[in-house]
Amino acid sequence: MTIQSHIPLAPLTTFRIGGEAEFFCEPRSVEELREGLLLAQEKGWRVIILGGGSNILFADGLIQGLVVSMRALKGLREESDILWVGAGMSMDELNSWAEKEGRSGLEWSGGLPGTVGGATYMNARAYQHEMSEVVKAVRVMDFSGREFLLQREEIHYRYKYSVFMDHEDWVIVEVGLGLGFASPEEVRTKTEACRKDREEKGQYLYPSAGCAFKNDYSRNLPAGKVIDEVGLKGFRIGGAEVYQRHANFIVNTGKATADDVLRLLEKVEEEVYKKTGVRLEREVRVIK
Ligand SMILES: Cc1cc2nc3c(=O)[nH]c(=O)nc-3n(C[C@H](O)[C@H](O)[C@H](O)COP(=O)(O)OP(=O)(O)OC[C@H]3O[C@@H](n4cnc5c(N)ncnc54)[C@H](O)[C@@H]3O)c2cc1C
Repeated sequence: MTIQSHIPLAPLTTFRIGGEAEFFCEPRSVEELREGLLLAQEKGWRVIILGGGSNILFADGLIQGLVVSMRALKGLREESDILWVGAGMSMDELNSWAEKEGRSGLEWSGGLPGTVGGATYMNARAYQHEMSEVVKAVRVMDFSGREFLLQREEIHYRYKYSVFMDHEDWVIVEVGLGLGFASPEEVRTKTEACRKDREEKGQYLYPSAGCAFKNDYSRNLPAGKVIDEVGLKGFRIGGAEVYQRHANFIVNTGKATADDVLRLLEKVEEEVYKKTGVRLEREVRVIK
């Protein structure tokens, strides 16, 4: 497998921001993945796992270590009642398959950017549903190349949390999903409605990483509402803006740097805390 160096990361993220990876690889098989991880271990490189780059902000400048893109690992196989999906398959590709085959359970994720692995890691959610509802098991490889299976209960899912967040040396290789059956027409209609709703809300008009902060559902405090109430909608630092149409999105209006976004995130956190006492928690993963 080829290890490349000095690969620009901005095009691999939905923010379209970020510097260069010191080293980069995109394994096309589980064996190649192991090869890359073992090489990193031998050389003492840090490893960063990249899915669709839709929840990541890479810093400007050199990102040290090996960035492993999962996007080429996207097989799909059915084994008894579990659909095993390669972590690198995009949610879009999976939704197209489900629409064609009449498989239900993922309609809520219509238009969700990123990969199946990223959604499993983040416990992505939308329209009152979340990934944990369909994940049955996950095949994992750790950085030493050891493979193991995790059952759903071992993932300890809760709002925007999975056990993977506490094990940065675990790579999600394959996700076992439990999907139901419905008519292709019904699946398509529901999936398309979610996609269209996102489009109408202007989610794709500017590069972003979606919601910057988690919502505090225990106190019924959507982060966007709090940010809006402190008057930060439309506030800009450099090319980064608190999105006019959704205050929990920080958008790249064209030439934003990671530094602009980081300073804006800090500004929002400070202002919200000063004016409301609420401590916002970041959803976007910052990698320096
Ligand atoms: C326009 C827009 C709308 C969005 N709407 C929503 C929404 O409604 N709901 C929501 O929850 N999110 C939303 N997001 C955020 C994002 O799409 C999700 O969090 C998505 O699931 C991230 O997947 P990804 O593959 O892009 O992950 P990445 O951004 O590549 O990675 C995110 C994290 O997961 C880790 N990771 C990724 N793949 C693996 C793997 N195979 N093994 C181990 N770790 C891995 C990375 O290291 C990183 O820490 C939105 C983003 C955008 C740009």
